[in-house]
Amino acid sequence: MLEPWCRECAKRGLRVRAVAVDHVVPHRGNWSKFVDRQNLQSLCERCHNRKTAIEMAEDRRRLRLRR
Ligand SMILES: [Zn+2]
Repeated sequence: MLEPWCRECAKRGLRVRAVAVDHVVPHRGNWSKFVDRQNLQSLCERCHNRKTAIEMAEDRRRLRLRR
């Protein structure tokens, strides 16, 4: 069972109720990463949205480099 508090906020000493289960390393369709419990963390909505936005920006950069 994952902890009920946001892990990112916990690093800053805050206790915020987590609402999302996040993949530490984006799985990008990789099944072993998707099911790896070591790769899961609880996040609150704000931290999850921020991380998702960063990962999407990285994806866009990667797509540009591939061209
Ligand atoms: Zn948080």
